[in-house]
Amino acid sequence: MLDIVPLGGLGEFGMNMLALSWGETTIVVDAGVMFPDPELLGVDRVIADLTYLQQKGRVAALVLTHGHEDHIGAVPHVLPLVDGPVYGTPFTLALLAPKLEEHDLTDSTDLRPLRPSERATIGPFTVEFIRVTHSVPGSVALAIHTPVGVIVHTGDFKIDQTPIDGEHFDLHRFAELGASGVLALLADSTNIDRPGVTGSEREVVDAFEEIFTSTSGKLIVAAFSSSIYRMQILVDLATQFERKVAFVGRGMARNAQIAQDLGYLRIPAGVQIRDSEVSSHPALDVLCMVTGSQGEPMSALSRIAIDDHRHVKLGRDDTVVLSARSIPGNERAIGRVMNHLARRGAIVISEGDKHVHVSGHGSAEELKLVLSLVRPRYFVPMHGEYRQLARHARVAERVFAGRDPSPTILLAENGDILRFDDEGGRIAGKAPVGRVLIDGTRTGEVGDEVLRDRRHLAEDGLVVPVVAINRQTGELEGAPEIITRGFVMEDSEALLADGARLLVEVVEHASLEERTDHGLIKEKLRVELRRFLRKRSGRRPFVLPVIMEI
Ligand SMILES: [Zn+2]
Ligand SMILES: [Zn+2]
Repeated sequence: MLDIVPLGGLGEFGMNMLALSWGETTIVVDAGVMFPDPELLGVDRVIADLTYLQQKGRVAALVLTHGHEDHIGAVPHVLPLVDGPVYGTPFTLALLAPKLEEHDLTDSTDLRPLRPSERATIGPFTVEFIRVTHSVPGSVALAIHTPVGVIVHTGDFKIDQTPIDGEHFDLHRFAELGASGVLALLADSTNIDRPGVTGSEREVVDAFEEIFTSTSGKLIVAAFSSSIYRMQILVDLATQFERKVAFVGRGMARNAQIAQDLGYLRIPAGVQIRDSEVSSHPALDVLCMVTGSQGEPMSALSRIAIDDHRHVKLGRDDTVVLSARSIPGNERAIGRVMNHLARRGAIVISEGDKHVHVSGHGSAEELKLVLSLVRPRYFVPMHGEYRQLARHARVAERVFAGRDPSPTILLAENGDILRFDDEGGRIAGKAPVGRVLIDGTRTGEVGDEVLRDRRHLAEDGLVVPVVAINRQTGELEGAPEIITRGFVMEDSEALLADGARLLVEVVEHASLEERTDHGLIKEKLRVELRRFLRKRSGRRPFVLPVIMEI
């Protein structure tokens, strides 16, 4: 009896995670995060509830389809439950490595690189990697061979017929598997709403060529730090247009290095410069690739937008391109950054103006093609909000029409136990699921409602700095106050007095733009006060700033 349980990613965007069990053996495919709404107080990231895995006892292996955060971001949190190797392509594992380091898990983790077409056997399961194309190198689908049949899990994909790295989608293997019989197909539903095909990563070249031609100042491009193909396209254009390239922001610089080390990013000698060298080159000779396409308050782009970046200053002739989709929920934060950029006189170009971004997920015709090739007995739409899963199910019905026997569509949600045995496949019950909010990247795993989480609050308590700021002048109105609950220290009065002084300093040292930007100042106060409390008390209370605009 095979049980497949989606623990995250069905009915929501992000935190993809799937458990497969046969007898005593459980394996997990992907362990992703979901980024909270930037306005969600004090929460850094959201992961799937791990109760079901804890009940299973021991996870025999963790298998990763690709290196996006919504697939690997929760790996450090899941690893304590894994008693076995982590499989991924070399690039996926390279993107994972810094996370393991951050959590001191490098030595205790058994990383096993697997290339497309290679297999690994874990008890009754044999996992086979199949190359797919997506917006990050090293992406694979999985064929999981089980005693009841083959499960095909697409991972995230589009069908890019002209991939930047020359690594093609393995349509042949999908067809072969389909011909020899597939029990169930689990497939990406993200872009089922879009008709036609998504298009190659190369499609953005034309728009960027125009931008390079027409920009007389610095060119600043914000993208996801995992967008290695975007990096290659921009490096190539920069070389052609004789601009130097700087990767600005920790994630961007790190991933550019990883991609170069593994041969996915080729930069001609002399083209790359450090961020500290940007100011020593004429503006028209520079391209900066920066983090912050989602308006993250502490990112490079947000700092540049308010003239608070150490090395990169924005001039009036500069052009800023947002080369990424905005994740739902981030629109307001992104809008704020765009306003700051515009105020400095920069030209701001986003997806709505020019074709500067192309999705990594296949549109309806690509999804139909995979359904046709694989022709499974059971189909489970995954990776999408419920309406996308439902639409994918309807599309599949049309693709399967007239087929005998007609495949069964299982429209599942997180926690549904999909059971496959001699009697076939069905939804056979419900596993515990939910969201876990993470405060800080290391610790602070807590239950569903932050403010009511007794366990975490009991340990470290809650700290609420209340700061009143004049909306017009950005000046402090009165002294900041710090309210605490469950945060008890020996000399907490002195500590909090120092904390309040720190808040005054932070506000006074912030620029006017920062002070009058609710989201920015809130995040700044949170980060600074948390760091202060950790250093002084060794505690990690939830810090939930309240800004009163007067
Ligand atoms: Zn992805
Ligand atoms: Zn994804």
